Amino acid sequence: MVVENLKKLPQLSDYQKKQVEKHIIPHIAKLSSKGEYTCMDCGRSWKSDKNNANVITCPHCSAKLTVEKERKRKIVYRDYFAIVTRCGGFQVIRMFFMSATLRKGKKVTWWSDEAFQRWITSDGREVIVGRKRNWLCRYVDSWDWSSDLEVRQEHCAHSVCPNKTIGRVYAIPELVRNGFNGDFHDYNPYKVIKNLLINSKIETMWKAGQFKLAGYFMSSSHSLDMYWPSIKIAIRNNYTVEDASMWCDLLSSLDYVEKDIRNPKFICPDNLNEAHDYWVHKRQIKEERIRRQRERQRELNQEAVYLARKKQVEKDEKKYRKSKSHFFDLEFKDKEITVKPLTSIQEFIQEWHTLHHCVFTNKYYQKEGSLILHALVDGVSVATIEMNIDNLEIIQCRGVYNQVPPYKDRIMALIESNKYKIAKRKQAA
Ligand SMILES: [Zn+2]
Repeated sequence: MVVENLKKLPQLSDYQKKQVEKHIIPHIAKLSSKGEYTCMDCGRSWKSDKNNANVITCPHCSAKLTVEKERKRKIVYRDYFAIVTRCGGFQVIRMFFMSATLRKGKKVTWWSDEAFQRWITSDGREVIVGRKRNWLCRYVDSWDWSSDLEVRQEHCAHSVCPNKTIGRVYAIPELVRNGFNGDFHDYNPYKVIKNLLINSKIETMWKAGQFKLAGYFMSSSHSLDMYWPSIKIAIRNNYTVEDASMWCDLLSSLDYVEKDIRNPKFICPDNLNEAHDYWVHKRQIKEERIRRQRERQRELNQEAVYLARKKQVEKDEKKYRKSKSHFFDLEFKDKEITVKPLTSIQEFIQEWHTLHHCVFTNKYYQKEGSLILHALVDGVSVATIEMNIDNLEIIQCRGVYNQVPPYKDRIMALIESNKYKIAKRKQAA
């Protein structure tokens, strides 16, 4: 049927060609450094004092032009445009490729040819008719213009979105019945047509004037079923969603913090921006809490596994005492801070739980050459310090999550001024 109808499609009419010239080809005025404008439509030039406008009218051909200051003398502009029509009961999208050359001092030249067509039945099945694609060529515009328009396999080049639709749109009755009134609302005509014919949810949104939502779910439908009850409630409450991704983000945040996403109070806010930011923040707080709980659980599991191997624990403990116990009673203090060595494996575990770094998991208690100290404020550790026993240099001083601890300078100074005590213990050992 497609092949039979194919011949009925007309060539581009003069009106359509005019539309291409008006809407598809860019209209540019080049502005030279000397303040001279050149109309890239008709090629003629003129001088003007007002050199700060973005849009200007050509005094020769009266075209409305966008001012450009780039130096290039030649611009080649390529694009696709669509003609949407009906033929033999099919909805047809005709895709034309267009190439325009804009040269300084010359009238604009352009050519266009039909690259492919989509023939869509009222129940959304389709056939592609197109030119042959040039082999081994990765450019999407690489059509073999000498080949005939024939029924072909779908190729990713066929997914190109037209810049604009030209001329009047003719729709099959089924498409009109499903809510189409000639306006694609800046979405890809193919996606709109196909969805309105086969997707009743998109159809409902389109009919309700929820074009932003319809557009959003036309390109990513995975969460449509999940949000469908909320969408219906928004429609029932005459709440038009102006920013679909933000609204879906709001729904997912509400859902995460276990708020009712069928309650208009939550999902139809007067100020979407504010509501979005508020609930996204709530969500982040909850995520962080859960993350910490999980991490804590992981730590406890790891601890349990280690402590279950009693012999190993005993061995580690003995070894640690033997190597470091002569430092154990050291203690340096200023007004708030107390610095002292870790004196048992249990203290390494405690340090790890308090500060969430790797002092226990990386077995720092086995490091013969290092002395591990911690700094306490009100009896709680705020920093762990690793010192090289040979040269008494501080290797690292870490706070919670390996960050720079509070009072770092004071902790370091306190250790510096008491180094001689550590040196003495070393000699005594
Ligand atoms: Zn002109």
